[in-house]
Amino acid sequence: MTLIFRKPLPNIEHPEMPADVVIVGGGPAGMACALRLSQLIDDHNARHPESPLSKENIYVLEKAREAGQHCLSGALLDPRSMKELLPGFESEAPLDAVVNKDAVYFLTRTGHYRLPITPPPLRDHGNYVISINRFVKWLAGKVEAAGITIFTGFAGSELLYEGDRVAGVRTDDKGVDKQNQQKSNFEPGYDIKAKVVVLAEGTRGSLTKQLIQKFDLMKDRNPQTYGVGVKELWEVPSGRIEAGEVIYTMGYPLTMKEYGGAWIYGSQNPGSKDTIVSLGFVTGLDYRDPRLDPQHVLQTFKQHPFITKLLDGGKMIRYGAKALPYGGWWSLPPLAGDGWMIVGDSAGFLNSARLKGIHLAIKSGMLAAETAFDALLKSDSSAATLSKFQRRVETSWIKDELWPVRNFHQVFKNGMVAGVFNTALQEIFRGGPRNRVPSHAGHENLQPLANLPADGGPEAHMLGPAKGDGKLTFDKLTDLYHSGTKHEEDQPAHLLIQDTNVCNDRCVKEFGSPCQNFCPANVYEMVDDETAPNGKRISLNPANCVHCKTCDIQDPYQIITWVPPEGGGGPNYDGM
Ligand SMILES: Cc1cc2nc3c(=O)[nH]c(=O)nc-3n(C[C@H](O)[C@H](O)[C@H](O)COP(=O)(O)OP(=O)(O)OC[C@H]3O[C@@H](n4cnc5c(N)ncnc54)[C@H](O)[C@@H]3O)c2cc1C
Ligand code: SF4
Repeated sequence: MTLIFRKPLPNIEHPEMPADVVIVGGGPAGMACALRLSQLIDDHNARHPESPLSKENIYVLEKAREAGQHCLSGALLDPRSMKELLPGFESEAPLDAVVNKDAVYFLTRTGHYRLPITPPPLRDHGNYVISINRFVKWLAGKVEAAGITIFTGFAGSELLYEGDRVAGVRTDDKGVDKQNQQKSNFEPGYDIKAKVVVLAEGTRGSLTKQLIQKFDLMKDRNPQTYGVGVKELWEVPSGRIEAGEVIYTMGYPLTMKEYGGAWIYGSQNPGSKDTIVSLGFVTGLDYRDPRLDPQHVLQTFKQHPFITKLLDGGKMIRYGAKALPYGGWWSLPPLAGDGWMIVGDSAGFLNSARLKGIHLAIKSGMLAAETAFDALLKSDSSAATLSKFQRRVETSWIKDELWPVRNFHQVFKNGMVAGVFNTALQEIFRGGPRNRVPSHAGHENLQPLANLPADGGPEAHMLGPAKGDGKLTFDKLTDLYHSGTKHEEDQPAHLLIQDTNVCNDRCVKEFGSPCQNFCPANVYEMVDDETAPNGKRISLNPANCVHCKTCDIQDPYQIITWVPPEGGGGPNYDGM
């Protein structure tokens, strides 16, 4: 497979910067890694004042202008790893509510049926409702107070190699125009030469993807599979849902052929009488119909009487979307090599049976920090030293949690009914009767239009763009407005399409240009062009992009590569 980068500018010198550890991505995994490393160094320096280690050359790179701004989650926090990282964190962290009530419903087109018991993976008593943006911002404060530098507004754009060793990260060039020419404010990216690089970029990380492709790291793993979560935050009149109440739904609007479901979490804004509802729908990126639109799925979901009643008289205040990795244990790549480690969602540490990854991201970041600390002490960041991270994960509670659900997502490949039956078997046999159930990449399920009913059949209510009534339901552009997304407009496109002839000649006819549907931010448009073979040509609005990574994952020909735009651009999530 060809590796794709933004075209490098010719004859540019990139200033070098030495580093001990560089962490790419300041989400829960990256921040926990930085904080744990700082704790270990403080402890070492207190015990060995004669041979202190410095934190001066440990950096976190975060592409958002402010820490937390590009993170999106449900979010319920399982506090297990936070209790290890910062005992007593509950007294000062921004926690919106403690979960005190949970329920799971199965929805038909108009009915709703409560499951008599909440399945064990979805029991959330004792977890916290949080805004991941505020939580990560708070963690960032802790990291900075500990003396570690976070470079916000800086994206890692390329890995630097010395032979087969990862030797650092190049940050994004700033001030480049659409034609790939320097503007008057041009600033070249830095070459940060690091002993250890920790990839903490979240789902489908762009540097992680480069590394995986370069060393063919997934060769004997199950391919990673994904879902995309489309989320709205609502203010609703009090009394509709309690702060700390959690509802999951299965079924409508999905049919038995698609995988996914919804979450509804209640919390309260301090000082406000309105209740805040976090409402979102995760659609598995392994559906068949290329016309299916995950943002439309959420809009249809809200029209179900059970949900309409909850939202009636309320106001949508925020919107966003993000992909999440579903593959589980068998889809984890090797976690470390010469000069590098992969943590959090970039590796795929997410328990899809629980829709939870924050606590695993934090724990994996902490274990990577312990390994990086060893490497600094020994002045050795070879694969032999860093591969201890793999062993640390395999002997930690991360494996205890992920092993019994190692086949969870795979067994839904034959539909919802078979999936639920097999999930019950997994509960009994700690992962199912088979040790490893294989899987395939979700985009391979997409069917050509010729194989599908022209009227959409049972899926018709989720296909194509949602229109929106402006009160309960919204079209994509109205939703997008509530994500606060902004990019410098005059910069090269950060969505790289290997060959647009495939879009204009083949995809439009075979699959009906699904990029227009799966992108939750209207970035892709097929515009009229009489010179194009099918009268349509692809056109991009990269400034709309909310960095969800769905296009990189779901395009049927795998010719789209998402690369970071100029640092600082992207959504402005707050309270999500
Ligand atoms: C819709 C949805 C609902 C979810 N609900 C829950 C829930 O309720 N509870 C739960 O526990 N988990 C939930 N999860 C999963 C959870 O959010 C993730 O597991 C967790 O956020 C992963 O943390 P991370 O640090 O690995 O990645 P992220 O949170 O994605 O953070 C990655 C960070 O890296 C930055 N970055 C990426 N690439 C670069 C680059 N090249 N250079 C610089 N910076 C970069 C990003 O801007 C971001 O700040 C949900 C996920 C989704 C998508
Ligand atoms: S362009 Fe890609 S990454 Fe950006 S919002 Fe659309 S699908 Fe998501």
